[in-house]
Amino acid sequence: MSSSNLVRQLTEGLPSELLATLRKLSDIAAAQSHILYLVGGAVRDILLKRPSLDIDLTVEGDALALVPHFAVILGLPKVTHPSFGTASFGWGPYTIDVATARRERYRRPGALPQVEPSTLMEDLHRRDFTINAMAIHLSPSRFGEQIDPFGGRGDLRKRLIRILHPESFKDDATRILRALRYEQRLGFRLEKGTEAYLRRDRAMLNTVGRDRLRQGWELILKEEKPETILNRAAALGITLHASLSGDSWLAKVFPKARQAWGTPPPPPSLYLAIFCYALSPEGAEAVIQSLRLTKGTAKVIMDTLQIKEDIPSLAQADLLPSRIYRLLQQRSNQAILAASLATDSSLIQNRLQTYLNTLRYIKPHLNGQALQRMGVLPGTDLGKLLKALHQARLDQEVTTIEEEQAWVYRWLEAKAEKKGED
Ligand code: ATP
Repeated sequence: MSSSNLVRQLTEGLPSELLATLRKLSDIAAAQSHILYLVGGAVRDILLKRPSLDIDLTVEGDALALVPHFAVILGLPKVTHPSFGTASFGWGPYTIDVATARRERYRRPGALPQVEPSTLMEDLHRRDFTINAMAIHLSPSRFGEQIDPFGGRGDLRKRLIRILHPESFKDDATRILRALRYEQRLGFRLEKGTEAYLRRDRAMLNTVGRDRLRQGWELILKEEKPETILNRAAALGITLHASLSGDSWLAKVFPKARQAWGTPPPPPSLYLAIFCYALSPEGAEAVIQSLRLTKGTAKVIMDTLQIKEDIPSLAQADLLPSRIYRLLQQRSNQAILAASLATDSSLIQNRLQTYLNTLRYIKPHLNGQALQRMGVLPGTDLGKLLKALHQARLDQEVTTIEEEQAWVYRWLEAKAEKKGED
């Protein structure tokens, strides 16, 4: 085990105020005979000189006993999750998580582990990859000391993702998704043995509960370039669903989705709707069920497929804007964007974009109250008139408020004449 000191990296990697706060927290822990460590992703990112907003602290001792003292130092309300012996604090843009060092036992593959308080070493031993299983001593007498029992530092240099033991993916198959995520995010490679175990154990993903599986894939879809991860997954025989596999089409369309969406990056639902574009509604329903997707995401996916089904109507020659509006007004805007990105017809793209960029914002100048002031009685007529006026506005039969007023009077006259004839 290396015993290098990482004070310089800590100082360069974290704002000085945050570092000072961590020192204070460590002093408090030491005064209560507890030892505090920085662990996991923050250590990895500091060594890689990458920004990291998640500061994970592990306490050898009892994290929850320290939390009230920490809350005073941080001057912040605390959020606790006592069942897992952890607490979370917001510190500016950072989240400081404090947890009791713990060991985990897996009674069967895919099950949530049994958790017990333990030592830092056992806590590091339960982690996913060597590069995530390092810690930095924060206690006053050993501040900055590196703890690297599995050779994480070496793997960072070699740019490798390596599991800690051969049964790791069996214990928790979500690590398969995590491995793919880190590999692409960091531009690393799976270590040879790790890749072999991943291929061996990939079917274990079926043992993972739907919610954990959804979270795993959503984290992938929140990465900078999810298509590279989905393609790599496909090459390793791993798919989001049997009917959905990363491919060159995805590699072309996802970047366009990012460009169209802007910042912040697109939500997973947009990517999922594009991903499901080739499916039938029944096929998409199966994906929604298999990952227990939220109602909101399910609507985006199903709306996208409905738009695909409506393409013959949307493709008609000389389609009036009001007809485009009616075909799309019930559809979620994300679905319209997804369909416009997924379709290869430029006519459909244009019509969907026209809806998103213009039609959806067009409203008549005159509202219900204005119409009543013009003598229209409330009731069905008012509703009909408003709809017809909106349509006339969409189709540019009227543009100005005066034109709308004249149009309304004509409509009322025609109506009165019709009544007279009846
Ligand atoms: P990210 O930047 O993606 O948040 P992170 O390393 O902080 O990276 P988290 O998901 O926040 O990742 O997890 C924090 C730490 O907990 C990881 O660094 C890893 O050590 C450990 N960990 C998380 N999930 C697992 C898992 N499924 N199995 C083992 N260890 C895990």
